[in-house]
Amino acid sequence: MLCDFHIHTKFSDGRLSLREVVDLFGKHGFDVISITDPILDRYILEERIRKGEQINAITKEDFKDYLKALWKKAKRAWKEYNMLLIPGVEITNNRDLYHILAIDIKEYVEPSLSVEEIIKGVKEQNALVIAAHPDRKKEDKEMNVEAIKDAIRKNENIAIYLMRKTNEKR
Ligand SMILES: [Zn+2]
Repeated sequence: MLCDFHIHTKFSDGRLSLREVVDLFGKHGFDVISITDPILDRYILEERIRKGEQINAITKEDFKDYLKALWKKAKRAWKEYNMLLIPGVEITNNRDLYHILAIDIKEYVEPSLSVEEIIKGVKEQNALVIAAHPDRKKEDKEMNVEAIKDAIRKNENIAIYLMRKTNEKR
């Protein structure tokens, strides 16, 4: 099965629109994709606003419309390509360095919360938790993958945990 569970679109910092993403993966025979544009912790948000930078992310205010747009495209993806599109989000916390993919998310989860609270909030929605790009570094600091693992273990009755493995050091 061909799947990709971490995709950004023009809704945030991606290069392709949602329509173009669906066509790209659909034409390449993918079975399942999840669109996971980021939502940001309040410190990154405030910093970007202060510096006059583009927000390049989904805001709390946009969240419902974002999900609606994804569900609409999910219908087309299924009809045209027999491809399952699952609405998701990348919960981005750069202060404590965890990026969490929440697949099949239904409600906004505040990225500024503790990792335990985030994972609890995601699991209460029966969404899937994935540690995003655990190998990536930010200003030379490692992603806080252990915190995500611990928080998932505390919710183990419902936890599903996936992680990309890599042997390369970047
Ligand atoms: Zn990320």
